[in-house]
Amino acid sequence: MKLLAGNWKMNNSLEEGADLMEAIVEGLSAQVVGDVRVVVAPPFLQLPQIVHGLWENAHIAVAAQNGHAAEGGAYTGEVSMAMLRDAEVDAVILGHSERRQFFGETDQDVADKVKAALKHQLIPIVCVGEVLAQRQAGTYLEDVWAQLHTALNGLSGDSLSDCVIAYEPIWAIGTGEVATPAQAQEMHAYLRAQLKATFGADDMSIVYGGSCKPSNAEEIFAQPDVDGGLIGGASLVADDFIALVKLLNQA
Ligand code: PEP
Repeated sequence: MKLLAGNWKMNNSLEEGADLMEAIVEGLSAQVVGDVRVVVAPPFLQLPQIVHGLWENAHIAVAAQNGHAAEGGAYTGEVSMAMLRDAEVDAVILGHSERRQFFGETDQDVADKVKAALKHQLIPIVCVGEVLAQRQAGTYLEDVWAQLHTALNGLSGDSLSDCVIAYEPIWAIGTGEVATPAQAQEMHAYLRAQLKATFGADDMSIVYGGSCKPSNAEEIFAQPDVDGGLIGGASLVADDFIALVKLLNQA
């Protein structure tokens, strides 16, 4: 499945978020979208207005940027997967490198969240990726697989087909430095082979993230094992996001 997800991160007022969504919806006719699954991930407080504004538009799914693994209780400041589902959210980004870097999320935390998300019928978009030192040391394939293996531990091939994997080299996120198409393809092919060998999962979407924009996405999306993108900065510019959907549809 081709998938393009926009991670809005901690940006925009309610009004700005609604304007951005309106511009995206306007630019995404059924023809532009084609067979691409389009997802937007606004901040928590914007989720209800984005979900409800989209009732007429079947082309766009809505994701949260995080969720807590517990069912509920004394977790001040957190939002549970059940709450996200209750708010009619479709998916949840888990293990983003910024969550790992700034909030100390571990691979095991991500694993717990993936299970909780699946339990509540949310599509987990599971993020993995290496830091520059791991790439330079040449251990990036094994290191990223170790992250993903832990995050998916204990799941069956069947439940894995409900997950999306986002390969996001940390050195490429928000830096303007993008992985080469060959670097993306190498990692995606490796992860796909490992997922099949370990879990028997052979139909998972693996998307690329890291400074992806209309000027560099075409070649990346053309790689056989790249099923789409997780987009940060460029997802805040409606024209760029729409252009990325078009490029992916044509890939
Ligand atoms: C991201 O944060 O998931 C991301 C890919 O960001 P950017 O596109 O800005 O590098």
